[in-house]
Amino acid sequence: MDKMKEGFNEYRRKLENGEIEKPQKMDPIEKAAANPKSLRAAINAKCFDCSCRQRREVTLCTVNSCPLFKIRPWQAKNEN
Ligand code: SF4
Repeated sequence: MDKMKEGFNEYRRKLENGEIEKPQKMDPIEKAAANPKSLRAAINAKCFDCSCRQRREVTLCTVNSCPLFKIRPWQAKNEN
């Protein structure tokens, strides 16, 4: 636990000193833009865009005629 606290304090110190930058939160479309050769990022971005930028809607997708249906992200665990 002490090591964890130590690591966190070190992280905060580096952030405050400007040694490192706080990671930016990106949505799946921004992630795909940042990593244009990743097929997984492209699929995640496509489904995210198709579902009005709602992950839950991707999970609930029922368009099983879509080529991405079986490999779409955020599927319910007991599906397939
Ligand atoms: S699998 Fe569903 S959410 Fe993904 S692109 Fe196809 S229709 Fe859209």
